[in-house]
Amino acid sequence: MAGVYISFPFCAQKCTYCNFASGVMPRELERDYMTALQAELASHVWRWVPETVYLGGGTPSQIEPGMLARLLSRIPAGPWKEATMEAAPGSLDEARVRSWLECGINRVSLGVQSFAPRELARTARKHRAETVANDVELLRRNGIDRINIDLIAGLPGQTAETWAESLHWIERLSPDHVSVYMLEVDEDSRLGREILAGGLRYGAADTPGDDLIVELYETAVDRLAALGLERYEISNFARPGHESLHNLKYWRFEPYAGFGADAHSFDGTNRIQNVETAAEYVGRWRGGQSPACHSEPANPREERFFVGLRLMDGIRPEIEDWLRFEEPIGRFLGEGLLERDNDVLRLTRRGVLLSNEVFSEFI
Ligand code: SF4
Repeated sequence: MAGVYISFPFCAQKCTYCNFASGVMPRELERDYMTALQAELASHVWRWVPETVYLGGGTPSQIEPGMLARLLSRIPAGPWKEATMEAAPGSLDEARVRSWLECGINRVSLGVQSFAPRELARTARKHRAETVANDVELLRRNGIDRINIDLIAGLPGQTAETWAESLHWIERLSPDHVSVYMLEVDEDSRLGREILAGGLRYGAADTPGDDLIVELYETAVDRLAALGLERYEISNFARPGHESLHNLKYWRFEPYAGFGADAHSFDGTNRIQNVETAAEYVGRWRGGQSPACHSEPANPREERFFVGLRLMDGIRPEIEDWLRFEEPIGRFLGEGLLERDNDVLRLTRRGVLLSNEVFSEFI
């Protein structure tokens, strides 16, 4: 069963840690982007009715309700088993949430990142812990109880105490899904560039070291498990039966069609990527060109080792793969980074922490 991803890369602010091609952009660009997005959806040849829909980016919770209805009406109606809206805390109100329900949205992912006021202020996020509590209550009151909360381990100034405070809020709000990401340090975010340059802005000098980040992550694994939220993928935790059906498609090689800037698609054979920025995307549309800028055949057998292994259930390599990767598999089994259970291969708890090292051997 296939999924649909829609990218809306516009936000009310640009968060310091964010390395996506998203942010604050002119209203005219947003207007043209929505026209181009509708055109891309309208020209798609649907060979299936999607099982899942996911609106990300960006801050799609900002999309005006009438526009959202027009956009989603271009996707074959299910009703979809799961339709997720990524939302910035504080951007929800009663009318907006009701309009989402009318469009078929039945799951909301809140980009919380932290509940600690100082961490939020430094990253340019506008909400407070109470804002998130109000949003969760508002969603549940209106019948949306499938809620994800995103957290980041490694934000400037984060300590074991402030992390415990964030996890305490998770306990209090009791969402059925939590994602815990480790801070990514690269040239694509303001904070990343500042850390790499050894600067002080955005609290860069207060960024936790690797050992503390690992400690925070490991604490989350134990704390969330105690709350009934089991880790089912390296960064994702859910109550059994509440895993993200859409995101599971990425790790299970099921097809999905992506629309908008920087959206990716997998048709079962090829991986296709759209141009990265909203401006490029609109430019393609104006010029009557396809937004796709890259396409290459997928190799699920090989990719399984660095995509499928992200799942805690592990993978079932084929005989040829056991032979082909005999050396690294044997080495990682010996080092306690992988474990084998008959024909299933999976990361160990220590292997999760060193997963990039493991994956790089299979690429
Ligand atoms: S983190 Fe989310 S809200 Fe912040 S700039 Fe990136 S996409 Fe926008």
